[in-house]
Amino acid sequence: MDTDRFRVRPSQRVDLQRYDPADTGRFERKEQAAGKLEKDLERLVALQRKLYAHHQWALLLIFQAMDAAGKDSAIAHVMSGLDPQGTDVHAFKRPSDEELDHDYLWRTAKVLPERGRIGIFNRSYYEEVLVVRVHKDVFAAQKLPASLVTRRIWRNRYEDINAFERHLARNGTVIRKFFLHVSKEEQRKRFLDRLDDPAKNWKFDAADLRERERWDDYMRAYTSAISSTSTKDAPWFIVPADHKWFARAVIAQVVIETLETLDLKFPPLSKSHLTALADARARLNLPPSQEGSSVPRHHHR
Ligand code: ATP
Ligand code: MG
Repeated sequence: MDTDRFRVRPSQRVDLQRYDPADTGRFERKEQAAGKLEKDLERLVALQRKLYAHHQWALLLIFQAMDAAGKDSAIAHVMSGLDPQGTDVHAFKRPSDEELDHDYLWRTAKVLPERGRIGIFNRSYYEEVLVVRVHKDVFAAQKLPASLVTRRIWRNRYEDINAFERHLARNGTVIRKFFLHVSKEEQRKRFLDRLDDPAKNWKFDAADLRERERWDDYMRAYTSAISSTSTKDAPWFIVPADHKWFARAVIAQVVIETLETLDLKFPPLSKSHLTALADARARLNLPPSQEGSSVPRHHHR
């Protein structure tokens, strides 16, 4: 599969109309992609082990979407099989009072992935140019000094986000950003599904309907944000999301391709470490009664 056609090139003016949310590439049905999905997950597990052992790069995956686009299940899919000790997921909700008293990157900067790890942001600082741009009252709650609130404010935020991501990239955090592109009609069906299916009732949130009413404003905000913040180091991918299985296939492949460019290696062992391994092997092969005694000790590192 060619994931390049979903990648937004730097300074490309995105036209969301030209991305079909129901796109399924060369697959017609989910069953045809099942083998690929399974194999990709295995590759991902192996690559994560190497990322962790190599311990130089960190990977940050950012997910943004309208409600019911399938962020949660896409994240769960990509995570399945990964070592929980090398992976962190953070969901960003409405900011707390404490968070509002800081700059908007503060709460995300605290939970960035460490070297060797994969960090997943379920929503992110991009909300600062999306929900905050669409809702004036949400913006007002940020209590910015009036002299800083100019017509340039969104452009300024794009610049700052780009600078922040460039800083992370230059320090070894690889960033990939996914916009799960669901159609308004598919969202309607999924909302109805949440109302009809008792097992999904809990997912229904009346507030989601209010956001849906602002659909066009959101699409404008997404268009502007994605066009202004897709860079070489931190590209956006516009992922067709009307078919959840296809969205998962695209995301998994992008993550694999990203990790494969990093030339990950298991760390080389020092001489003393190798000697220690040989000693340990010899000791474990002694009869139990002698195990604790005869092999000389080596200190490695
Ligand atoms: P789900 O509904 O599938 O459980 P969700 O990501 O929609 O997941 P919610 O708790 O429903 O989670 O919604 C989080 C809300 O917080 C969203 O409406 C989002 O726009 C809002 N939010 C996130 N970041 C900010 C922010 N920086 N400022 C204001 N609102 C924000
Ligand atoms: Mg929600």
